[in-house]
Amino acid sequence: MTDEHPRNLIPELCRQFYHLGWCTGTGGGIAIRAENIVYMAPSGVQKERIRPEDVFELDLDGRVLKAPENKALKLTECSPLFFNAFRQRGAGAVLHSHSLDALMATVHFGSMFRVSHVEMIKGLRDYGYYDTVEVPIIENTARECELTESMSLAIDANPQADAVLVRRHGIYVWGRDWQHAKTQAECFDYLFRFADRMVQHGHDPVVGPQG
Ligand SMILES: [Zn+2]
Repeated sequence: MTDEHPRNLIPELCRQFYHLGWCTGTGGGIAIRAENIVYMAPSGVQKERIRPEDVFELDLDGRVLKAPENKALKLTECSPLFFNAFRQRGAGAVLHSHSLDALMATVHFGSMFRVSHVEMIKGLRDYGYYDTVEVPIIENTARECELTESMSLAIDANPQADAVLVRRHGIYVWGRDWQHAKTQAECFDYLFRFADRMVQHGHDPVVGPQG
């Protein structure tokens, strides 16, 4: 099994995201598709301690092909949400984070996060420096799986966005493969942090330097 096999990548990426504050308190998660198999981090565990054998394998219909031998490990309620991005966008990887900066974006904005004139915008698919990035925001629900339909509708209504924010909860981000998903997740998080600072200092994050 190579270093880049999803069973090795998922524990490694979860450790990185844990230290970024994206999946502390057992929250957050990641799923990677390789051909017709989706690999998914288990639910409700210390995300920085996941081992390769703890990863679930599912088919493209969301059925579990291979569960971990440790029966205490459960499939995450995020699973149908990850599959929204796999099915509707042909994503190669999907990441769910509880980043504080993503949460603050949902506090500052109504139904759509917007930011413009930031170099890091160029790290997002089909976006340039002068463009206004738009990420839809959906309302949170008591259970994560109840977000499935509103997330699906937001994905269809916003073909420009490779992410959906969930109010006071976090973000789902995807990409064509794990590298693209990770890059976009990092760029979005940076943009949320920038927008939060702009608002704190009384600036409009959508208005460029010339006003
Ligand atoms: Zn969550």
